[in-house]
Amino acid sequence: MTSHSRPVRTRFAPSPTGFLHIGGARTALFSWAFARHHGGQFVLRIEDTDLARSTPQAVQAILDGMQWLGLDYDEGPFYQTKRMARYREVIDRMLAEGTAYRCYTRAEELEALREAQRARGEKPRYDGRWRPEAGKTLPAPPADVPPVIRFRNPVDGTVAWDDLAKGRIEISNAELDDFIIARADGTPTYNFCVVVDDLDMNITHVIRGDDHVNNTPRQINLLAALGAEIPQYAHLSMILGDDGAKLSKRHGAVSVMQYHEDGYLPDAVINYLARLGWSHGDDEIFSRQQLCEWFSLERLTPSAAQFNTEKLDWLNAHYIKHAAAAALAADCRERLAARGIATDALALESLIALYQERTSRLTTLADEIAAYCQDPRQNADYAALVAEHFNAAARAALAALRDALTALPDGEWQAETLSAAIKTVLKAHGLKMPQLAIPLRIALLGKTHTPSIDAVLAAFGRNAVLTRLQTALQE
Ligand code: GLU
Repeated sequence: MTSHSRPVRTRFAPSPTGFLHIGGARTALFSWAFARHHGGQFVLRIEDTDLARSTPQAVQAILDGMQWLGLDYDEGPFYQTKRMARYREVIDRMLAEGTAYRCYTRAEELEALREAQRARGEKPRYDGRWRPEAGKTLPAPPADVPPVIRFRNPVDGTVAWDDLAKGRIEISNAELDDFIIARADGTPTYNFCVVVDDLDMNITHVIRGDDHVNNTPRQINLLAALGAEIPQYAHLSMILGDDGAKLSKRHGAVSVMQYHEDGYLPDAVINYLARLGWSHGDDEIFSRQQLCEWFSLERLTPSAAQFNTEKLDWLNAHYIKHAAAAALAADCRERLAARGIATDALALESLIALYQERTSRLTTLADEIAAYCQDPRQNADYAALVAEHFNAAARAALAALRDALTALPDGEWQAETLSAAIKTVLKAHGLKMPQLAIPLRIALLGKTHTPSIDAVLAAFGRNAVLTRLQTALQE
């Protein structure tokens, strides 16, 4: 049976054993976009049955990452650890129906079996010694061995599916043994929980990393044994690092929240991730809405996608350039507050407008704005810059400018008027623009390069400019 007729339901099913990393975020994004495209539903499921490796911090990191990226889910988060009674119920049903059975093989016996198989050059696998068969007599269960529960995998035929990313995949059932669905202590195993969840949650499309391809035939057989409709599967090829190696911690960005730290906008990251393994013609820049309109699994790229920080920066610059100054101001205020720098006195939005077209990270934007909040004399090279650029002519011109600006009525503190005042001073002192503009930049911000000086003066504001100018003239 296929799932064409059912309303689309996808899920993102992370194991909370670490952060939400880029690969996981891309899986979540594709599942989300596919559901949104079809007007379907997107479910978040936390696969936390591995108690030893799952942590509440990792759960929180996943939720935070999803929220930051704006990947909203319609149902969940569901936690597998809260569904144990349901798993038990399904196991009991399978035992009753004969699609699962108790296996009392001891660990030493299994080891000996594997040893013998290896010696014969065979792949180690369970030999079905406790599998009930017509006409087969099973030994009496030993009292001292708590049994595991095994799935009665079909012995003949193949299990096949048309993978929406990889094409047709076929595995012979002879390759699969009767795998364990519940351990001796009663806890259900990973493949089993995934199947019960996908069934109960009516998942129609399983979109996940291709590290799960090997689990899929087992999961399909289990679903079939439960009489379930088999979802469609799309196994996404992996993401490689900038250097072509498998994406790992070595590539720095472990958690998507690290991208927040590093000054990326979520829209830029979403846009970037969408192009990692998916395309829509030559379109590189598109909105979430366009992504949802366009997204289809036919456009997945079969080969591994390579991470490219330069391209991400390029996209980020685009999104910063087009962001609302108020949103950038809020971000900047937060970043600087975290560094103990207050921005209350600044016309933050006007200042940000000077930089937003020329920056690719919110962190560097914050660095620029920090200069307006800190005493320029704190800059390590301030004294050297003063020594180099504050000659007598420059000082005289700065003093004249200070007087001209002091005399400027409040209502005229605007770029054009300020520019005119500068030009008047230049003319009167027989100087060229850089001979005044550079000392002025040093006086105001402790550096020789800034956006257009009249715009800087206008946005920085009268009080700050005059105070810093006066202080510099006393050097
Ligand atoms: N919990 C699995 C993981 O984090 C995903 C399982 C699935 O998508 O089927 O890799």
